[in-house]
Amino acid sequence: MRTRILALVAALAAWALAPAVATGAAAPAPVVIVAAESTYGGIAQAVGGSRVEVRSVIHDPNVDPHEFEASPRTAREVARASIVLMNGMGYDDWMRRMLAANPSTQRQVIVAADLDRARLLPDGNPHLFYDTRVAGAMAARIEALLASRDPAHAAYYAQRLAAFRASLARVDARVAQLRASYPGLKVTATEPVYGYMLRALGWISLGNTFQFNVMNDTEPTPAVVARYEDELRQRRVSLLFYNRQVGSPLARHMEQVARSAGVPTVGIEEFAGPATGYAQWLLNSLDAVEAALRARPPARR
Ligand SMILES: [Zn+2]
Repeated sequence: MRTRILALVAALAAWALAPAVATGAAAPAPVVIVAAESTYGGIAQAVGGSRVEVRSVIHDPNVDPHEFEASPRTAREVARASIVLMNGMGYDDWMRRMLAANPSTQRQVIVAADLDRARLLPDGNPHLFYDTRVAGAMAARIEALLASRDPAHAAYYAQRLAAFRASLARVDARVAQLRASYPGLKVTATEPVYGYMLRALGWISLGNTFQFNVMNDTEPTPAVVARYEDELRQRRVSLLFYNRQVGSPLARHMEQVARSAGVPTVGIEEFAGPATGYAQWLLNSLDAVEAALRARPPARR
């Protein structure tokens, strides 16, 4: 009898404890992170894992980030975010307007361009997400904020940051290998999307005036267009990078010029899709670069 009562008490105690564990009353809710672009959202997911709820505002490959206009839904997401990630350098000024219109005392904002000003290209190229050091600094900052908001899981975030850094090291190794195989390559692009990666590769980007005109949706002068076309026709460049996600008739025309001149073309993206991890996204682009270089003879000197 006595043992039966003890067993019943134990069973009741277990039953009473179970709901508290199941509802996770002791664990804080996931940290809500809103990223202006899915590239930064992916980095936040890599560091935060199951402890974060990440929303990426720009994730549709058919949206031109340079022309993006935020919706009321974006405003609601920004209003409830604990952490907001953005690029800066004029790339996503709509987010600054969102933040100003939805003030919050508990929200923390990480601007990639402010993490390490020494990394910024002097020409004002805003496509910072192709710099693995900027990505590493962004990840470290996210980890620090998460650990301070959710100290019980600090070790979890630290371990995930270490794994993310290891993935960046694989990209850096791949870049070093390509840099050594193809030293000082002259290349061009319809837009300066890959500029930070080209710096890492030690390659020379020609036709920058044309590239920035296309990016800013300004009409290049006839002289700029003629010189740019000439570099392709004369095959003074080994590769033409074009923007897979956003294009203009002029950019499409230059892709055609490159193809008929025998200059290999490589499609580059403004941001990583939600399903592709950051490091894998960069590795995919480097694979495409190497495949294009192997398929065609080097450009004339
Ligand atoms: Zn762009």
